[in-house]
Order: sequence, then structure tokens, then C-alpha cells
Amino acid sequence: MDASAKIYDVLVIGAGPTGLACAIDAQRAGFSVVIVDKGCLCNSLFHYPAHMTFFTTPELLEIGDMPFSSPNQKPTRNEALEYYRKVAEHYRLDVRQYETVDRVAGFDGEFTVHMTDRFERGSTLRARKLIVSTGYYDLPNYLGIDGEGLSKVKHYYHEPHPFFGLNVLVIGGKNSAAIAALDLWRHGAKVTLVHRGAEMHRHVKYWILPDINNRVKNGEIAAYFGSTVEKISEDTVTLKTPAGEVTIANEFVFALTGYHPDFEFIEKLGVKLDEANDRCPVCDEGTLESNVPGIYLAGVIVAGERTNEIFIENGRFHGKLIADSLRSKMMVAAAV
Ligand SMILES: Cc1cc2nc3c(=O)[nH]c(=O)nc-3n(C[C@H](O)[C@H](O)[C@H](O)COP(=O)(O)OP(=O)(O)OC[C@H]3O[C@@H](n4cnc5c(N)ncnc54)[C@H](O)[C@@H]3O)c2cc1C
Repeated sequence: MDASAKIYDVLVIGAGPTGLACAIDAQRAGFSVVIVDKGCLCNSLFHYPAHMTFFTTPELLEIGDMPFSSPNQKPTRNEALEYYRKVAEHYRLDVRQYETVDRVAGFDGEFTVHMTDRFERGSTLRARKLIVSTGYYDLPNYLGIDGEGLSKVKHYYHEPHPFFGLNVLVIGGKNSAAIAALDLWRHGAKVTLVHRGAEMHRHVKYWILPDINNRVKNGEIAAYFGSTVEKISEDTVTLKTPAGEVTIANEFVFALTGYHPDFEFIEKLGVKLDEANDRCPVCDEGTLESNVPGIYLAGVIVAGERTNEIFIENGRFHGKLIADSLRSKMMVAAAV
């Protein structure tokens, strides 16, 4: 049979922790499920800093009732990737990797999902219901300043080695910026931190904050608070500080100023955004079904621009709400 002719009960867009949890819950409720991801399994986690440690204890990252054991109080990225691979294997999840969902046609009960693979080849899958769990990590919040397009400007931090001995500017005042600045400094980079706030953000984890503050106090990491970046050029960066304009030597910039969901994609699905509520996609709180019948939302995207409100810890429970709704709707439909 032509693969495109099969109609799945549920298609999940995004194989992050939430998408996997949703797929497991739907599968356990008796539905046929396929998951599609533009990258690899847990693509966002894969792109986190290579040696990062989660903020959360392992049991709070668990999905599908599978224990996540770790010798560490808080697991590392590698352990989490290993865990989610094992979960996908255990539940025999049908995950189609490296397939980007471009658009969706059809309607509740008969959606056609159009995808493009790494080689620009198009394909389609059909499903009765869709769950959208596309996260927020693919789209950085750009600063809109001169020089931001230079190749030396990065919006993702991976590891410190390539920056040994070099002048690196880290922009941002939250966890990602603090962690990157510390890691770079500990591995031999000459780090300057710039943040528009008067001090590091209050959301910086309590075990990271004293570390970064002490490095700044000791002058090991130069820091400009209440400051912004005006311009980035090949060899320098220019900052606007309370003491006036400062231009410093620079080889690399990490602009770690956050990320946002792909609102354009969400709107293309027909899902409305509540502009008065931080662009939260319109959905029923109890079922997570959006204003488009048959399209459900899950994970971090449910909170719109408030990307620090839903994480793995709480997004993993969205699958249960959706599975309950699917059960009641699809079982009723089957009985009619
Ligand atoms: C450095 C860092 C540390 C963190 N630490 C913690 C922590 O300790 N505890 C915690 O609970 N949370 C933590 N978080 C937050 C957490 O990782 C995210 O909230 C979580 O990954 C969101 O899960 P999700 O499944 O909704 O989205 P994601 O994990 O982002 O998954 C979305 C998936 O959708 C795919 N996708 C997107 N668009 C498409 C498309 N058009 N077609 C196909 N696939 C698509 C992406 O490739 C991705 O795999 C951390 C985040 C960061 C950045």
C-alpha cells in the first residue's frame, strides 16, 4: 500500500519530550500514532550545550511511566537523550526524523500533512487528529543590531573549546547566558558579559547565581550591566553603557537572548493567537484542542511568548489531557 494512503489516528508534529509523551498517551489509549520531527529525536535537547546539566531532578523529566534513573542529583543532557531514546524504543514509537512539516491541508478527521526532507523531497502523511508540539528553540530572539548577521555571532552555545584564548562577548542575563559565560571562562576564553538589566536576572538558578556574581566581582568575567550592544563588527563590539560608549576587541559573540515559538507556522494551521495574552495559541484549557477542530497543542507553545512557563516538568502531562479528549471524541465517532 502507498504509505501516503494510510490514515493514522494521530500525527504528532515535534518529537521533543512533550511530543513523545503525547504519542505514548495516545498510543496507550489505542490509537495509531506517527511522530514527525524536522531534526533528530529530541532535537532541541540535542542542540543544548554539550555538557549541560538539567535544572530538574530526573523523576520530573519522566514520561510514559518509565523510570529515569541517574547517578546524579540532576541529569546531564547525554543522560536525558539516552533516556528519551530508550523510551521511544520501549514504546516502539513510529518517529519520522528529518522531516519538516511545512503545511497542513484538510480538516478534522482527514488532515494531510505536507513535509520536506533534508534533500528537499516532499511527502505527505494523513491523520485524523494532529498534535502540535513544536517547542520554541528553533527561532532565536534577534537583537536587530548592525553586524548581527556576521558568522561570528551565535545564538546557540554548544561547547567552549573553539573559543580558547579569544575575546568572547556573551549577551543576556538569564541562565543560558550565565552558564555559557562561566563555561567559556573556565575553559580559557576571555569573557565579557553584557546585560540590559541592572544585575543578573532573578530567574538565574540559585546555585548558578553566586558563581557568576563572584566571577564578575573578582574581575574574572568583565560585565556591563544596564548596557546594550550597539554594533558588532569583524574585530570589535560597541556597547552602550551607563558610562558612555565602549568599544572592545572581540572575536565571537553569543547572543543568548531567548527563543520563541514559530508563530507563523501555528497561524498557518489556522490556529489563532491571543495577542492580548502573550500570543498564546487559542485552545481549550481542559483538552488543549485549538480553535481548529482536531488540532491539539502541547508543550511549551501553549504559553505563547511566556516560554519560561511550561517546560518538560509540566508539559509532559499534556499528553494525558489530549488522550482523554481523543478517547471521548473518537470513540463517540466510531460508535455513531
Ligand atoms: C539550556 C536549557 C535547559 C533546560 N533545562 C530544563 C530543565 O532542567 N527542566 C525542564 O523541565 N525544562 C528545561 N528546559 C526547557 C525544556 O527543555 C523545554 O521547555 C522543552 O524542551 C519543551 O519541550 P517540547 O517538547 O514542548 O519542545 P521541544 O523539546 O523544543 O521539541 C519540539 C520539537 O519540534 C520539532 N519541530 C519544530 N518545528 C517543526 C516542524 N515544522 N516540523 C517538524 N518538527 C518540528 C523540533 O525539531 C523539536 O524536536 C531547558 C531549556 C534549555 C534551553
